[in-house]
Amino acid sequence: MADRLTKEQRHRCMAAIRGKDTKPEMIVRKFLFGRGFRFRLNHPRLPGHPDLVLRKYRTVIFVNGCFWHGHECCKYYRLPKTNTAFWQNKIERNKRRDKEEQSCLATMGWHCITVWECQLKPKVRERTLESLAYTLNHIYLEDRKVKTYDISDESETLMAAEPEETYGKPE
Ligand SMILES: [Zn+2]
Repeated sequence: MADRLTKEQRHRCMAAIRGKDTKPEMIVRKFLFGRGFRFRLNHPRLPGHPDLVLRKYRTVIFVNGCFWHGHECCKYYRLPKTNTAFWQNKIERNKRRDKEEQSCLATMGWHCITVWECQLKPKVRERTLESLAYTLNHIYLEDRKVKTYDISDESETLMAAEPEETYGKPE
């Protein structure tokens, strides 16, 4: 293989690295599946096509590469020494898009969790995954608590006066 790639080759190479079944994502999928969490992959109709969608938990998970998504203060986010401005621009754009998509998802009533590639390195992986499972269970319980609260703790007049859209949750 030539050590100098053409622009096109480099592009394809990077696209492959960024591709769907990248290793960090597989780690998360395997773990969650093993713990009994069920999910959909790359939901086509949600902003940003989240890597995993857990409907029951109203949660979407993004497994992000530290370079492509510009993980701040992370040693894996280092700009290349050549074409620095190009990469900086590109990654700034990615970050802006991530932010927009996530706030869009949030207004649709989805919880957004981002798992960074560096959080899945062998030394910290177990802790990351455990806290992911913990967070999901917490979200589930909190969602249920909100529902219970709506029904039992509010008086009927208050309930009637409260428009449903206030809660902004899907379904
Ligand atoms: Zn990172």
